[in-house]
Amino acid sequence: MTHDDERLLRRAVELAASARADGNPPFGSLLAGPDGAVLAEERNTSLTDHDITAHPELKLARWAARELDPATAAATTMYTSCQPCGMCAGAIARSGLGRVVYALSGEQLDTLKPPGSGFPDVPSEGPALFDEARVPVEGYYR
Ligand SMILES: [Zn+2]
Repeated sequence: MTHDDERLLRRAVELAASARADGNPPFGSLLAGPDGAVLAEERNTSLTDHDITAHPELKLARWAARELDPATAAATTMYTSCQPCGMCAGAIARSGLGRVVYALSGEQLDTLKPPGSGFPDVPSEGPALFDEARVPVEGYYR
């Protein structure tokens, strides 16, 4: 991790504090190009927007996929105050972003929360109906 990485991570932590001050969960993130220039910043707004997906990492991954060409996305780094959750990690993987740098790990975050405050897994069933469900999918991926 370079001095520039730490500078940009500190900005992500500032955004996290700002999210909390606005009444939201304390998480912030930004995107920086290869020269360290900030391209976009976001804060968690899940409470004020009444949107469970309003994590800064997800908002930035969607922005990158929409606004950046693939080469620029691949040269872009996300700096985030905390390791992305599973939802955001999936979006980041699809966005084409080249790198993620985080401050708190998910494990470190858990030590700062009351016990049992995470989200339970939703019971799920499957696979089922393979012969029917494969019809709209077959031939799509080439
Ligand atoms: Zn997330």
